[in-house]
This record gives sequence, structure tokens and C-alpha cells, in this order.
Amino acid sequence: MIVMKFGGTSVEDAAAIERSCSIVAERVSRRPFVVVSALGGATNGLLEAGALAARGEVRKATAIANALERRHAELLPSAAEHFVRLRELLKALSAIGEFSFRTQDLIASYGEALSSLIFTDRLKRMGFEAIHLDARQCMITDDNFGKASPLMDRTTARLEEMASPHRCAGRVVVMGGYIGSTTSGTTTTLGRGGSDYSAAIVGATLMTADPRIVSGASKVKEISFDEASELAYFGAKVLHPLTVLPAVEKNIPVYILNSKKPKGSGTRITREARPCRNVIKSIAYKRGITVVTVSSSRMLMAHGFLKALFEVFDRHRTSVDMVATSEVSVSLTLDNVSSLNAIVEDLRPLGDVEVASTMTLICLVGSNLKYTPGVARRAFSSISDINILMVSHGASNINFSFIVDEKDTDAAIQKLHADFFHEIDPEVFEPPG
Ligand code: ASP
Ligand code: MG
Repeated sequence: MIVMKFGGTSVEDAAAIERSCSIVAERVSRRPFVVVSALGGATNGLLEAGALAARGEVRKATAIANALERRHAELLPSAAEHFVRLRELLKALSAIGEFSFRTQDLIASYGEALSSLIFTDRLKRMGFEAIHLDARQCMITDDNFGKASPLMDRTTARLEEMASPHRCAGRVVVMGGYIGSTTSGTTTTLGRGGSDYSAAIVGATLMTADPRIVSGASKVKEISFDEASELAYFGAKVLHPLTVLPAVEKNIPVYILNSKKPKGSGTRITREARPCRNVIKSIAYKRGITVVTVSSSRMLMAHGFLKALFEVFDRHRTSVDMVATSEVSVSLTLDNVSSLNAIVEDLRPLGDVEVASTMTLICLVGSNLKYTPGVARRAFSSISDINILMVSHGASNINFSFIVDEKDTDAAIQKLHADFFHEIDPEVFEPPG
């Protein structure tokens, strides 16, 4: 059995869906279980429509819904029916005037609910026996709306009950990723980018070996689970961090393939990294990072300060990615700034708060880092003309991260790349082209 996951760009339009269905078709003998994301951009559109409606801007919200309807109905005419309900929901939202996590999940669920129906329909029209599984009946989660966690026992039982008979009968099973429901049937989502997680859960519950997670592209032929998890944060578009976990636990090999280059060998994620002549496997970066610095002389020798500080971020459900502390100040990086103003207000009692936005987090990842001295010196000397605002090294011995101003991103990446990859180990890397 294989699990094949197709991300938003792999199902963004008729041509992409066609291509992705052909990739499935070539592997029917391996009894594929297909997990799909919403059509590229659909989740963003749905959430934007919901937010607008809740602000009373029903006309704009409806316009987005109508555009989404056209995209979906072109691929599957019966999709139009779902939009009747969606527009009603948007109206209701404008009356209520708020957009809770619970309602966000309900609105966002239209994306995967529809893309999975579209994919199933396309496979059937290609002549395959395909069956649609409603993820809300198998992916059972807690009620942490916005980022729910699957209840593994129940999910395993449901998936087995609902998918196994079809798989035994040789049907291709198609399910939407990202969405699920609570035990009482309320729609939930696993958090943005969660379709990979859905796929990994299906893999971990139904498989004995060899899931393939089909999504993005890469020129690295092989990376370890650890390296992949470090990179996942940066390449969240390609691989959801949590994906790695169910697979690691079961020692199941995972492949990342590019649906636009179906013949490519992709990247294999292995349990252990094999020795590589390059010190680092990848340079990852993330733009749009915000650095928050809290300085307080009260912090000197005081205990409980960091706890109070992190509690603020916890309260606003904002995750902190990198932390550096000195005797009297703490700097933290965020990429989700939706609650930034409220966070800053809550931090003020702790000390002076400074916010620097439009920063870039650069990260060198590779399991050789831990054996190789002088990586920091080498990295910093290749970008000696660029200002480095914050550094983190050691917390994980396979990653070395630092912050630069966003305007320096390209120059820094190019210089680091030229330095670390002027020769590549052919065992681990596929030459570009
Ligand atoms: N469609 C969802 C999102 O855009 C989940 C996913 O694609 O993995 O976040
Ligand atoms: Mg994704």
C-alpha cells in the first residue's frame, strides 16, 4: 500500500489534477490511498471571505465565494451546491460579527471537502474505481479548533472500518487532508498545512511500509528525519513538520516528490543521515520574521521571568521559533504576527519591548554540523559584510540559525550557497538541471 498526498499546487487546476491523477493511475497496483489538499489558494480565500463577512463586508466576502465557486464548479458542476450553504454561512457570520476558531474550521473545511470530491470524480472518469472518504468521518480529533490533534485510537478504528473494505476490493480511496471532526461531529482542522499530517496519520495507521508523500520539489536525494524536521519549518509549503513524526515512530520511509516532474526520484527521508561530504545539506530561510526584544534590569538574577514571558505567547497561541537571551534582555522570533499588538501590550509590564519586523531567519541544516568545527566562522566570514542581528546555535546540533535584515536575504543566501555548495557530494545531491 502507498499513501500519496497531493498539495494545493498539485491540484490547483484541471491540468494539475489531470497530472496528479495520472501519477495515481500509474501506481494503482500498489493500492494507493490518496490524500489531497484544497485547490491552491482555496483555504486562504475561504478564510479571507469568513474574516470579511465577520467584519460586515458581506459583498466582498460573497465575491470571493463566487470566484471560488467558479473555480470548483468548472471542475465538478455539483460543487456549486456547496457554495449555496457557504454563502448562507457567510451571511450568518456577518450577523454574529465574530469569526471563532470553530467557525474558521468549518469555513476552511470546504476546501478539502471539495477538492477530494473533485479528485475522486476525475479518477472515476479516467476509468478507475475510486471511492471518496469524508475525512470528517474518519479523522477524529480533540476540540482544539484551529489546530486540533487527532485521537489516534478512534481515527485508526474509523479508517480501518471505512477504508479497508474498499482497499481490499481494489478501489483507490481519496480523502481530503487537513480536516476532521470531534467525537461529537463538529468540524475541525489540524492547522494550516495539515494535509501532510493527515497523510502521515493514514500511513501510520494503515500501512506497514513505504508511504509516499507527494508534494514539493527538491534536489537533495536523501535527508534524515532530523534534518527534515528542521527544514520543515522553513519549507512548510512542502512538508508539514508533524508529518515526520508518525513516520519516524514507525520507521516508515517517506518520499517527497514533485508532481510536476513525475519521473523524478524525489527526496527520500531516512531514519539516519548517511555520511555526506558537504557540511550542510541545506540553507533554508524564512522572510517576514518579527523579532521581539524584551529588556529589563529586573531580569538580572530573577527567576520566573522567562516563564512569565512565555506565558504571554502561550496565551495568544503564538509560537516562538528562536530565542536568544542575555543577562538583561530576551529576543524572540515570530512568524505569526496576528496577535502582535496584544502580545506587546501584555509584555510591557515585564520590561521595555522593542519590535523589529521584516527580518529573515536563515538556517543552515545538516547532521554533519555536529562533527564539524568552524561552521559559524565559515558562515559568518562568507557574509562578513552583512549585519547579523541574532544567532542561535547548539540547541539542536544539526542547525545553525541567524537573523538578518530582509533586504539582505538574497545576498546572504547566494554567498552562503557559493561557499558551502561549490562542490556537491553526488551520493546525496542531484546536480541541478
Ligand atoms: N489547505 C490547507 C492549507 O492551505 C491544508 C494543506 O494544504 O495542507 O493550509
Ligand atoms: Mg502543504
